[in-house]
Amino acid sequence: MPHPAEYEAFFEQRLETLKTEGRYRVFADLERRAGSFPRAYENHLGTDVTVWCSNDYLGMGQHPAVLAAMHQAIDRLGAGAGGTRNISGTTHYHVLLEQELSDLHGKEAALVFTSGYVANEAALATLGSQIPDCIIYSDALNHASMIQGIRHSSAEKHIFKHNDPADLERQLATADPHRPKLVCFESVYSMDGDIAPIAKLCDVAERYDAMTYLDEVHAVGLYGPRGGGIAERDGVMHRLSVIQGTLAKAFGLVGGYVAASAALVDFLRSFAPGFIFTTALPLAVVAGALASIRHLKENPAVRARHQERVQLVKHRLLEAHLPGMPPASHIIPVLVGNPRLCKEISDSLLDRHRIYVQPINYPTVPRGSERLRLTPTPLHSDQDIDRLVEALVDVWHRMMWHKVA
Ligand SMILES: *Cc1c(COP(=O)(O)O)cnc(C)c1O
Repeated sequence: MPHPAEYEAFFEQRLETLKTEGRYRVFADLERRAGSFPRAYENHLGTDVTVWCSNDYLGMGQHPAVLAAMHQAIDRLGAGAGGTRNISGTTHYHVLLEQELSDLHGKEAALVFTSGYVANEAALATLGSQIPDCIIYSDALNHASMIQGIRHSSAEKHIFKHNDPADLERQLATADPHRPKLVCFESVYSMDGDIAPIAKLCDVAERYDAMTYLDEVHAVGLYGPRGGGIAERDGVMHRLSVIQGTLAKAFGLVGGYVAASAALVDFLRSFAPGFIFTTALPLAVVAGALASIRHLKENPAVRARHQERVQLVKHRLLEAHLPGMPPASHIIPVLVGNPRLCKEISDSLLDRHRIYVQPINYPTVPRGSERLRLTPTPLHSDQDIDRLVEALVDVWHRMMWHKVA
């Protein structure tokens, strides 16, 4: 029997490895204040900071309409749902939310999960394990939640080159035409900010009678006339078998979902353990999500302002000769390429300039591609952008000076 101290030593030693590699994660201890986004109070520093890395892309987490709906739901209905969806946890709000989501994506039905992670994990594990002999084709840069779901399905898996329909086609062409197939990819990739050629991937999938599964987590609320995502923008929602999304990013709350045909959704409702055996989302969250989705469906001006802010930041970074990658979306990666330097730059932005941008290191991105990831929102002012660029230039020059010295 190992001594109890050996367990402790194991944990400590593993953490030590992370620290020496410069990728030990330190959380900023923030207090968001309703109404002052993108400002937040940072408890270690004891001062306000400007947040430049939030996934609350539109500030909907503090929108008055969302907060009002949540207050009202708490006052009228209380806190928790009181059970799993099957055992007393389905409220009318849950039913309305699923109708709103199926409408958003032009699908017959939708199913809400506890998070976007759980939606991917549960849906892919269930589809891949239940459809007999299913082969899954997965984009090389798919999110951890899709990878876990596919792994847990135990289905045969093939990885195709990132955003490469030709590579997908090569792989599909060699497969047994009689076996069921599922092609999984994202629309906006969260770390590089690039966008999938959805129509071309659908062309290929359709040629080989494969189903398609699209993660629109970083696009819902943000793209398309009503915020239905890139598939809505590109007019291809009807071609996808499953559209998956989150209530946590642009919609500003928490929770995930899939939208698909009535039969597919009913199948997941009936067979996905990650849906069945867990308590339904709290009512205030569901009511807030409804308000948020409805608001964004009707207000394309928010999306226009978001894109305008993004373009301005990109332009200013370019002007300042900072190594921003030219992304197609609202996510602006600034490459550093070294985990320690990346953390130092982030620390220095916070200490010297009260600007908060979390360093993104392995395993979230491949080693050597460590970066800052900027996410401008409609609520960042011209002055915020000026200060960001000045701060980045200052910190960049200092770091380069250190490297030379
Ligand atoms: C954040 C994320 C998820 C998980 O969504 P949550 O609602 O935060 O659990 C799924 N897919 C992608 C691509 C993501 O970036």
